[in-house]
Amino acid sequence: MSDNSITVGDVEISHLYDLVADFPFPRTLDQAFPAVPAEAWEPYRRAYPSLFGPGNVPRFHVGCYLIRSRGRTILADTGVGPASLGMAKLFGTGGHLPDRLRSAGVSAEDIDTVMFTHLHPDHVGWNLQQDGGRYRATFPRARYVAHRADWDTVRRAEVQQKLAAIAPGYVGQTLTPLESLGVLDLADGDRVLSQEVTALHTPGHTPGSMSLLVASRGERAILVGDAIGHPAQVEHPDWGVIDDMDGPHAEKTRRQLLDRIEAEGLVLSASHFPEPFFGRVVRLQGRRSWQAL
Ligand SMILES: [Zn+2]
Repeated sequence: MSDNSITVGDVEISHLYDLVADFPFPRTLDQAFPAVPAEAWEPYRRAYPSLFGPGNVPRFHVGCYLIRSRGRTILADTGVGPASLGMAKLFGTGGHLPDRLRSAGVSAEDIDTVMFTHLHPDHVGWNLQQDGGRYRATFPRARYVAHRADWDTVRRAEVQQKLAAIAPGYVGQTLTPLESLGVLDLADGDRVLSQEVTALHTPGHTPGSMSLLVASRGERAILVGDAIGHPAQVEHPDWGVIDDMDGPHAEKTRRQLLDRIEAEGLVLSASHFPEPFFGRVVRLQGRRSWQAL
Protein backbone atom coordinates (compact mmCIF):
# COMPACT_ATOMS: atom_id res chain seq x y z
CA MET A 1 0.00 0.00 0.00
CA SER A 2 1.55 3.27 -0.98
CA ASP A 3 -0.29 6.56 -1.10
CA ASN A 4 -0.14 9.37 -3.61
CA SER A 5 -0.81 13.11 -3.69
CA ILE A 6 -1.72 15.54 -6.43
CA THR A 7 -2.01 19.30 -6.55
CA VAL A 8 -5.03 21.04 -8.02
CA GLY A 9 -4.04 24.69 -8.27
CA ASP A 10 -3.23 25.68 -4.67
CA VAL A 11 -4.88 22.56 -3.20
CA GLU A 12 -3.05 19.39 -2.22
CA ILE A 13 -5.15 16.21 -2.30
CA SER A 14 -3.57 13.18 -0.63
CA HIS A 15 -5.01 9.70 -0.88
CA LEU A 16 -4.74 7.85 2.45
CA TYR A 17 -5.15 4.07 2.43
CA ASP A 18 -7.19 2.63 5.24
CA LEU A 19 -7.37 -0.96 4.02
CA VAL A 20 -6.62 -3.38 1.21
CA ALA A 21 -8.07 -6.86 1.73
CA ASP A 22 -9.83 -9.66 -0.07
CA PHE A 23 -13.50 -9.97 0.77
CA PRO A 24 -13.69 -12.68 3.43
CA PHE A 25 -17.43 -13.16 3.39
CA PRO A 26 -19.57 -14.43 0.56
CA ARG A 27 -18.97 -11.59 -1.84
CA THR A 28 -17.75 -12.92 -5.15
CA LEU A 29 -17.69 -10.72 -8.24
CA ASP A 30 -20.95 -12.19 -9.51
CA GLN A 31 -22.60 -11.51 -6.15
CA ALA A 32 -21.28 -7.93 -6.05
CA PHE A 33 -22.21 -7.22 -9.70
CA PRO A 34 -25.07 -9.66 -10.41
CA ALA A 35 -25.75 -8.44 -13.97
CA VAL A 36 -22.14 -8.81 -15.20
CA PRO A 37 -21.08 -12.13 -16.77
CA ALA A 38 -17.74 -13.52 -15.52
CA GLU A 39 -15.99 -13.25 -18.90
CA ALA A 40 -16.81 -9.52 -19.12
CA TRP A 41 -14.30 -8.91 -16.31
CA GLU A 42 -11.31 -10.23 -18.28
CA PRO A 43 -10.14 -6.89 -19.77
CA TYR A 44 -10.38 -5.32 -16.30
CA ARG A 45 -8.40 -8.11 -14.70
CA ARG A 46 -5.61 -7.19 -17.10
CA ALA A 47 -6.04 -3.40 -16.67
CA TYR A 48 -6.43 -3.35 -12.86
CA PRO A 49 -4.96 -6.59 -11.46
CA SER A 50 -4.79 -5.16 -7.93
CA LEU A 51 -8.61 -5.11 -7.78
CA PHE A 52 -8.89 -8.89 -8.09
CA GLY A 53 -8.12 -11.47 -5.43
CA PRO A 54 -7.85 -15.22 -5.93
CA GLY A 55 -10.52 -16.85 -8.07
CA ASN A 56 -13.67 -14.82 -8.25
CA VAL A 57 -13.09 -12.66 -5.16
CA PRO A 58 -12.77 -8.89 -5.49
CA ARG A 59 -9.89 -7.22 -3.66
CA PHE A 60 -11.23 -4.33 -1.65
CA HIS A 61 -9.29 -1.04 -1.52
CA VAL A 62 -10.56 1.55 0.94
CA GLY A 63 -9.20 5.06 0.59
CA CYS A 64 -9.77 8.36 2.39
CA TYR A 65 -8.54 11.78 1.28
CA LEU A 66 -6.84 14.71 2.91
CA ILE A 67 -7.53 18.04 1.22
CA ARG A 68 -5.25 20.90 2.26
CA SER A 69 -5.04 24.53 1.24
CA ARG A 70 -5.08 28.04 2.70
CA GLY A 71 -4.86 26.73 6.27
CA ARG A 72 -7.81 24.37 5.87
CA THR A 73 -7.50 20.60 6.45
CA ILE A 74 -10.44 18.54 5.28
CA LEU A 75 -10.62 14.76 5.71
CA ALA A 76 -12.97 12.98 3.30
CA ASP A 77 -14.24 9.74 4.91
CA THR A 78 -12.73 7.75 7.75
CA GLY A 79 -12.41 4.16 6.42
CA VAL A 80 -13.36 0.83 8.01
CA GLY A 81 -11.90 1.83 11.36
CA PRO A 82 -10.21 -0.10 14.18
CA ALA A 83 -10.08 -3.89 14.44
CA SER A 84 -12.72 -3.77 17.20
CA LEU A 85 -15.45 -2.63 14.79
CA GLY A 86 -17.73 -5.14 13.12
CA MET A 87 -16.62 -4.57 9.56
CA ALA A 88 -12.91 -4.70 10.38
CA LYS A 89 -13.60 -7.94 12.29
CA LEU A 90 -14.97 -9.46 9.10
CA PHE A 91 -11.76 -8.54 7.28
CA GLY A 92 -9.72 -9.82 10.23
CA THR A 93 -7.79 -6.55 10.40
CA GLY A 94 -8.33 -2.94 11.29
CA GLY A 95 -7.69 0.00 9.01
CA HIS A 96 -4.56 2.14 8.90
CA LEU A 97 -5.88 5.70 8.62
CA PRO A 98 -4.25 7.00 11.86
CA ASP A 99 -0.80 5.81 10.68
CA ARG A 100 -1.39 7.30 7.25
CA LEU A 101 -2.32 10.66 8.74
CA ARG A 102 0.84 10.58 10.85
CA SER A 103 2.92 9.81 7.76
CA ALA A 104 1.30 12.79 6.04
CA GLY A 105 2.40 14.96 8.98
CA VAL A 106 -1.14 15.60 10.18
CA SER A 107 -2.44 15.27 13.73
CA ALA A 108 -6.07 14.55 14.67
CA GLU A 109 -6.30 18.14 15.98
CA ASP A 110 -5.33 19.54 12.58
CA ILE A 111 -8.51 18.29 10.87
CA ASP A 112 -11.14 21.06 10.73
CA THR A 113 -13.76 19.18 8.69
CA VAL A 114 -14.63 15.51 8.27
CA MET A 115 -16.78 15.25 5.15
CA PHE A 116 -18.60 11.99 4.45
CA THR A 117 -19.12 10.97 0.83
CA HIS A 118 -21.82 8.75 2.37
CA LEU A 119 -22.52 6.84 5.58
CA HIS A 120 -21.76 3.22 4.67
CA PRO A 121 -19.60 1.41 7.24
CA ASP A 122 -16.38 1.48 5.19
CA HIS A 123 -16.45 5.31 5.18
CA VAL A 124 -17.07 6.18 8.85
CA GLY A 125 -14.93 3.73 10.86
CA TRP A 126 -12.48 6.12 12.56
CA ASN A 127 -15.06 8.75 13.59
CA LEU A 128 -14.93 8.06 17.32
CA GLN A 129 -12.74 6.82 20.13
CA GLN A 130 -13.95 5.15 23.29
CA ASP A 131 -12.51 6.24 26.65
CA GLY A 132 -13.81 4.27 29.62
CA GLY A 133 -17.07 3.52 27.86
CA ARG A 134 -17.59 7.12 26.72
CA TYR A 135 -17.28 8.25 23.14
CA ARG A 136 -15.21 11.20 22.02
CA ALA A 137 -14.58 12.57 18.55
CA THR A 138 -11.34 11.22 17.04
CA PHE A 139 -10.87 14.61 15.38
CA PRO A 140 -11.65 16.94 18.28
CA ARG A 141 -11.67 20.26 16.41
CA ALA A 142 -13.62 19.02 13.39
CA ARG A 143 -17.17 19.47 12.25
CA TYR A 144 -18.44 16.16 10.85
CA VAL A 145 -20.54 16.85 7.74
CA ALA A 146 -23.00 14.39 6.18
CA HIS A 147 -26.00 14.73 3.93
CA ARG A 148 -29.26 14.65 5.87
CA ALA A 149 -30.77 12.03 3.54
CA ASP A 150 -28.04 9.56 4.55
CA TRP A 151 -28.33 10.41 8.23
CA ASP A 152 -32.07 9.74 8.12
CA THR A 153 -31.57 6.54 6.10
CA VAL A 154 -28.99 4.79 8.28
CA ARG A 155 -31.10 5.43 11.37
CA ARG A 156 -33.95 3.35 9.93
CA ALA A 157 -34.22 -0.04 11.63
CA GLU A 158 -34.65 -2.03 8.40
CA VAL A 159 -31.53 -0.41 6.87
CA GLN A 160 -29.49 -1.21 9.99
CA GLN A 161 -30.77 -4.76 9.91
CA LYS A 162 -29.61 -5.18 6.32
CA LEU A 163 -26.17 -3.66 6.99
CA ALA A 164 -25.76 -5.73 10.16
CA ALA A 165 -24.64 -8.65 7.98
CA ILE A 166 -21.39 -6.85 7.13
CA ALA A 167 -21.09 -4.32 9.97
CA PRO A 168 -23.08 -5.25 13.07
CA GLY A 169 -23.77 -2.27 15.33
CA TYR A 170 -21.80 0.24 13.28
CA VAL A 171 -24.40 3.02 13.38
CA GLY A 172 -24.40 3.11 17.19
CA GLN A 173 -20.61 2.82 17.36
CA THR A 174 -19.60 5.32 14.69
CA LEU A 175 -22.51 7.66 13.92
CA THR A 176 -25.19 8.19 16.57
CA PRO A 177 -22.80 9.67 19.20
CA LEU A 178 -21.74 12.42 16.74
CA GLU A 179 -25.09 14.06 17.40
CA SER A 180 -24.90 14.06 21.19
CA LEU A 181 -21.26 15.20 21.05
CA GLY A 182 -22.48 18.25 19.11
CA VAL A 183 -20.03 17.81 16.24
CA LEU A 184 -22.49 16.86 13.47
CA ASP A 185 -23.54 19.17 10.59
CA LEU A 186 -26.21 17.94 8.20
CA ALA A 187 -26.34 19.25 4.62
CA ASP A 188 -29.63 19.42 2.73
CA GLY A 189 -28.13 19.80 -0.75
CA ASP A 190 -24.73 20.83 -2.04
CA ARG A 191 -22.41 22.20 0.65
CA VAL A 192 -19.58 24.68 0.20
CA LEU A 193 -16.75 23.49 2.47
CA SER A 194 -14.14 26.08 1.58
CA GLN A 195 -13.32 28.56 -1.15
CA GLU A 196 -11.99 25.66 -3.23
CA VAL A 197 -13.99 22.62 -2.12
CA THR A 198 -17.71 22.01 -2.68
CA ALA A 199 -19.61 18.83 -1.84
CA LEU A 200 -22.16 18.06 -4.57
CA HIS A 201 -25.22 15.92 -3.91
CA THR A 202 -24.84 12.87 -6.20
CA PRO A 203 -27.48 10.42 -4.91
CA GLY A 204 -28.22 6.82 -5.87
CA HIS A 205 -25.54 4.69 -4.24
CA THR A 206 -27.09 6.12 -1.08
CA PRO A 207 -29.75 8.86 -0.90
CA GLY A 208 -27.22 11.33 0.52
CA SER A 209 -24.10 10.47 -1.49
CA MET A 210 -21.81 13.47 -2.02
CA SER A 211 -18.95 14.08 -4.46
CA LEU A 212 -16.25 16.60 -3.65
CA LEU A 213 -15.39 19.07 -6.38
CA VAL A 214 -12.01 20.74 -5.87
CA ALA A 215 -11.34 23.82 -8.01
CA SER A 216 -8.34 26.13 -7.83
CA ARG A 217 -6.57 28.35 -10.37
CA GLY A 218 -8.39 26.81 -13.32
CA GLU A 219 -7.64 23.21 -12.32
CA ARG A 220 -10.32 20.82 -11.11
CA ALA A 221 -10.73 17.36 -9.64
CA ILE A 222 -13.69 15.38 -8.33
CA LEU A 223 -13.72 12.73 -5.61
CA VAL A 224 -16.90 10.73 -6.17
CA GLY A 225 -16.93 8.39 -3.17
CA ASP A 226 -18.84 5.26 -4.25
CA ALA A 227 -20.96 6.98 -6.93
CA ILE A 228 -18.47 5.25 -9.23
CA GLY A 229 -17.32 2.18 -7.33
CA HIS A 230 -15.08 0.43 -9.86
CA PRO A 231 -13.04 1.73 -12.82
CA ALA A 232 -14.95 -0.73 -15.06
CA GLN A 233 -18.05 1.40 -14.47
CA VAL A 234 -16.39 4.26 -16.39
CA GLU A 235 -16.94 2.20 -19.54
CA HIS A 236 -20.05 0.45 -18.20
CA PRO A 237 -22.11 2.83 -16.00
CA ASP A 238 -24.91 0.25 -16.19
CA TRP A 239 -22.85 -2.28 -14.16
CA GLY A 240 -24.70 -1.83 -10.89
CA VAL A 241 -23.15 -2.97 -7.63
CA ILE A 242 -25.31 -4.72 -5.05
CA ASP A 243 -24.60 -1.95 -2.50
CA ASP A 244 -26.30 0.70 -4.65
CA MET A 245 -29.35 1.45 -2.52
CA ASP A 246 -31.28 2.72 -5.58
CA GLY A 247 -29.84 1.00 -8.67
CA PRO A 248 -31.53 3.04 -11.45
CA HIS A 249 -30.78 6.35 -9.68
CA ALA A 250 -27.16 5.29 -9.09
CA GLU A 251 -26.77 4.50 -12.80
CA LYS A 252 -28.31 7.84 -13.82
CA THR A 253 -25.94 9.71 -11.48
CA ARG A 254 -22.92 7.74 -12.78
CA ARG A 255 -23.82 8.69 -16.36
CA GLN A 256 -24.26 12.38 -15.44
CA LEU A 257 -20.99 12.43 -13.50
CA LEU A 258 -19.05 10.71 -16.30
CA ASP A 259 -20.48 13.07 -18.94
CA ARG A 260 -19.36 16.05 -16.88
CA ILE A 261 -15.97 14.58 -15.97
CA GLU A 262 -15.21 13.83 -19.61
CA ALA A 263 -16.59 17.10 -21.00
CA GLU A 264 -14.78 19.27 -18.45
CA GLY A 265 -11.59 17.20 -18.27
CA LEU A 266 -11.84 16.76 -14.49
CA VAL A 267 -9.37 14.60 -12.59
CA LEU A 268 -11.35 11.67 -11.19
CA SER A 269 -10.76 9.61 -8.07
CA ALA A 270 -13.13 7.30 -6.20
CA SER A 271 -12.91 5.70 -2.77
CA HIS A 272 -12.34 2.15 -4.03
CA PHE A 273 -10.10 2.89 -7.03
CA PRO A 274 -6.60 1.35 -7.04
CA GLU A 275 -3.19 3.01 -7.15
CA PRO A 276 -2.32 5.58 -8.38
CA PHE A 277 -5.88 6.70 -7.46
CA PHE A 278 -6.08 9.82 -9.64
CA GLY A 279 -6.84 9.76 -13.36
CA ARG A 280 -8.87 11.16 -16.23
CA VAL A 281 -11.72 9.80 -18.30
CA VAL A 282 -10.43 9.29 -21.82
CA ARG A 283 -12.12 7.92 -24.93
CA LEU A 284 -10.26 5.38 -27.04
CA GLN A 285 -12.02 3.98 -30.12
CA GLY A 286 -15.31 5.33 -28.80
CA ARG A 287 -14.98 3.65 -25.40
CA ARG A 288 -14.49 5.52 -22.19
CA SER A 289 -11.90 4.44 -19.67
CA TRP A 290 -10.19 5.74 -16.57
CA GLN A 291 -6.57 6.50 -17.29
CA ALA A 292 -4.21 7.11 -14.39
CA LEU A 293 -2.46 10.49 -14.35
ZN1 LIG B 1 -17.50 2.13 0.03
